[in-house]
Amino acid sequence: MVRLDLHCIQPSAPGQSKNCKVCPVGYNVTVRKALLALLGVLFVLAGAYWAIDFRRDRRLNVLLITIDTLRADHLGSYGYAGARTPALDALAARGVRFSQATTVAPLTLPAHSSLMTGTFPAYHGVRDNGGFYLGDDQVTLAKALRERGYRTGGFVAAFVLDGRWGIGQGFDRYYDDFDLTKYRLDVGLDAVQRPGSEVVSKAIEWLDQDFTRPFLAWVHLYEPHAPYDPPESIRVRFPPTMIGAYDGEIATADIQVGRLIDRLAKAGRLDRTVVAVLGDHGESLGEHDEEQHGFFVYDATIRIPLIIAGAGMAPRTVGDQVRIVDVMPTLLELLGVEIPKPVQGRSLLPLVRGERLDGIHAITTAGAS
Ligand SMILES: [Zn+2]
Repeated sequence: MVRLDLHCIQPSAPGQSKNCKVCPVGYNVTVRKALLALLGVLFVLAGAYWAIDFRRDRRLNVLLITIDTLRADHLGSYGYAGARTPALDALAARGVRFSQATTVAPLTLPAHSSLMTGTFPAYHGVRDNGGFYLGDDQVTLAKALRERGYRTGGFVAAFVLDGRWGIGQGFDRYYDDFDLTKYRLDVGLDAVQRPGSEVVSKAIEWLDQDFTRPFLAWVHLYEPHAPYDPPESIRVRFPPTMIGAYDGEIATADIQVGRLIDRLAKAGRLDRTVVAVLGDHGESLGEHDEEQHGFFVYDATIRIPLIIAGAGMAPRTVGDQVRIVDVMPTLLELLGVEIPKPVQGRSLLPLVRGERLDGIHAITTAGAS
């Protein structure tokens, strides 16, 4: 049998000297040792890479975006011709769009409390903004995921969602940090807010700090909430009316949604991320003699947009009645996490798969009921 010696690539037969005829005595041995050492190093490196890759957490991430005061019927994907919402429409095109979703109350803190706990206000007890606190005993989406090793970050644009109201529980990082000395509190809590661009910059900074663990990032944008005052560069694209200004604010928020999704895509993380976007309530815009929201419970303020995309979900529009309390259990089931016992909402995954889901009834309350 003829074989090749590694040291000088020269054929030799068993029993013959392994020294090459042209190489100095001993050189071949040195080369062979060096090659074996190199192979050893490569083996160790390959093993280390495998070990790192094996340990890499491949669970799905969650990006949860709430856009305050967002009417479903003012988005392009919901059929509104005057919309400029390309980021949200692209998300709807590749995900599941729920055309009949409702909130529990036309108020920010009660609605977000129901979103985060999957329970109605009668259970979690938060019935109005300010003066109510989401109890520490509540099981929130952030708590459920943090317990399972997720990084959890919340980034909010309005003081009504400040951590002091309990809504920040379960988040490792909670970006509220409102400097109250800069605001006139006598005009109401609503006045304490910040632009979505700041909120999204903080969220991106946090997302980029760690690629080793899955994340839950909640980003809250406040643009469509009154007063409607979009940047001039956006305002000029809309009619000079109240509704035009409102739509301009939605367009401004849409740009920030696009920033977040682009960042995840560029970082190679979007294909492992479930993106859920919804409004916390709508806006009356003068319907039923109500300018904004918080009193009546007509569709203008109770119907909300809800879009969930990612995790291999096929594009679909679901026309069944669904509710804000159903979002938390839906996300948990998508992630393979057990739904906590107190949750009153239902996972919407049967509807996502095109199956029936009976027994969903909308329950809505208003104001400090
Ligand atoms: Zn709100």
